[in-house]
Amino acid sequence: MDLEELNREILSCARCPLHKYRRNAVPGEGSMTLGIMLVGEAPGASEDEAGRPFVGAAGQLLTEALARLGVSRGDVYITNVVKCRPPNNRTPTQEEVETCLPYLLRQIALLKPRRIVALGLVSARTLLSLMGKRVERISDVRGRCFRGLVAGVEVEVCVAYHPAAVLRNPKLRDVFIRDAAAFIGGGLERYF
Ligand code: URA
Repeated sequence: MDLEELNREILSCARCPLHKYRRNAVPGEGSMTLGIMLVGEAPGASEDEAGRPFVGAAGQLLTEALARLGVSRGDVYITNVVKCRPPNNRTPTQEEVETCLPYLLRQIALLKPRRIVALGLVSARTLLSLMGKRVERISDVRGRCFRGLVAGVEVEVCVAYHPAAVLRNPKLRDVFIRDAAAFIGGGLERYF
């Protein structure tokens, strides 16, 4: 099984009811050039339309943050816990997360990232639960990295705010940028 086959499987997935509402499933895109995988929550309207992750407003913020750190989107692998858009962009249910999780685990097993940056609570909770850590609030884990085995791969899971949360609350922007710089690399000199 390679990534292309896995993507094809995701694109035609009907394991949960979300497939009925989607225009496109969104497997993910990018590379392991930096050995880093960014994992969001689920596609929104723009992502559902394009079949690509993080291309809407939150994605623009993420892409800009990467660019200013000297990193292009193609240098990292960008995906989500849930591969299909939940109606009205609601938070995916635990059942949807669990049904879709095998895809993320297979992506991790194939790509073998050295670091996974979990964007937001759903992603952090899902990934850290695989290491036996229970996460109640994003503030308990934001800015921290946890080393462990995920899908048989020794990784570090580092937690940052979700860029959509930064859009809703601009006060989070500086912390988001600092976390991105620490987790993804590049210098802070362009910001501070
Ligand atoms: N929010 C996410 O969590 N993922 C996307 O791909 C876009 C917005």
